[in-house]
Parts: sequence; C-alpha cells; structure tokens
Amino acid sequence: MRIEAWGRSECGEVRENNEDAWLADVHAGVFVVADGMGGHAAGEVASEMAARTLHDVLSGDADPDETRLLAEEDLEDEAAVMRERMRYAMNQAAIQIQRHARSRPETRGMGTTAVAIVVDGDRVHLAHVGDSRAYRLREGRIDRMTRDHTVVQDEIDAGRLTPAMARMLPQRGVLTRSVGVHGRVEPDIATFDLEPDDLWVLCSDGVTDVLEDDEIIDIVDEITPEQTADALVREALRAGSEDNCTVVVVHALP
Ligand code: CA
Repeated sequence: MRIEAWGRSECGEVRENNEDAWLADVHAGVFVVADGMGGHAAGEVASEMAARTLHDVLSGDADPDETRLLAEEDLEDEAAVMRERMRYAMNQAAIQIQRHARSRPETRGMGTTAVAIVVDGDRVHLAHVGDSRAYRLREGRIDRMTRDHTVVQDEIDAGRLTPAMARMLPQRGVLTRSVGVHGRVEPDIATFDLEPDDLWVLCSDGVTDVLEDDEIIDIVDEITPEQTADALVREALRAGSEDNCTVVVVHALP
C-alpha cells in the first residue's frame, strides 16, 4: 500500500530544549517518535540516538542476524521476523544510550521513550516503550494502539485511579519502562492490518497531556491528513502544553 507522512515538533514556550526526536522515512516505511530525558542535554542525545538506531535497524541499514534470534519455524512468518527485528532495534538503541552515558557521568540516567511503526505492504508493525503513543484513526474512530508504561496507567488498569484523576497528578509522567535507563528493554510489539485511508498518529506526551483522544479525532476530522501533524502540535500548545510537542502522521493512500 502506498503511504505518505508528515512530522512536526515544537519546543513550546516553557522548556529550554526540545528533547523529542522524530523520524519519517516513507521509502523504508519506518516512523519514530522518541521523548528523551536526563538533563544536561542528555535527553536530546538519547531521543536522537534511539530514533537513528531504530531507523537503521528497521530499514535494514544495520542488518541483525535474525537466524540467531529466531527458531527456524518462526522465520517462515515474515511478521514474526519483523517483530523480532523491532525488539532487537529497541535493545540496540538502549545499548547505544548506555554506552554514551557510561562514558559521560554527567549524563547518567539518560533515556528515552520510543514508539515506532514499520509499514510493510498491508501490515503495520508497532513497537513502543514509555508513554509516547500511537493512535489509529479509521472511519471516524480513534483507537489508542499503545498502553502507556507509566505508574498511573498501572493504577488505572488496577481500578485505583480514573483517567480523569490521573490527568491531574504531577507524577503522571513517571515511567515504568524506558530505553537506555536500565539494561534490557521489553517493548510491547504487535502487528495490525493497514486499510486504505487509515491514519496512524505517533505523538509525545506533550500532546496527549493536554488533548483527550476525542479531541484529537475532532481536530483530525476537520482537516486533511497533510495538515494533521501541524494542527495537533498547534492545538496542544494552544491548550497550554508545557512540554515539547511532537507528532508524526502516516496516511495510507486510498
Ligand atoms: Ca515529554
């Protein structure tokens, strides 16, 4: 299926640095949003490193030895191979970031979220770590395709918090998983079908902190796919986001 894509990132009025990174490679079908953390410019380095590493591995520029990673019977399933490649890519990104942090003590604790999709024919492979999200918009509906790796999301899932309550908590950004801070990364990975006119939206929490899912669909319903990334970032800032705001939009051509 043919696709087109756009990305937009803004630092916003409050933060001094933009620690988000994004990447959209239509040719390779690889799309990434990463939201770095760590201070001393380390967050910017971590998110850039993750985006670059994910791209290099997922586009085939850095070829992992998949036969080493998979049992023979699994190798016959192309989707399984891609999911294994995504797991490998996330861990390669973590290794790069840890290596950097080890050589520069002031950057210790640097890390990043990462949400990545690979579009392969009529399939979308999705991997994510942290609280950057992927949404799928199809026929006027919005579906959140990622589950935030945050303490408050765990509390919501356990029934101890409502999403409305969670939105008010200052610690809503505390992650349970990230790329680079700890050793091995366990990303959530899944494969979905891609239908003509599907819109996939990847975004950092600077956007989703201030825009509810139904507000996102209200904004997107009024505009063309081409305008979506710019519009969501603009509306997030207008809604008072105090964080960096980043959106990547992938559109399956009808
Ligand atoms: Ca953020």
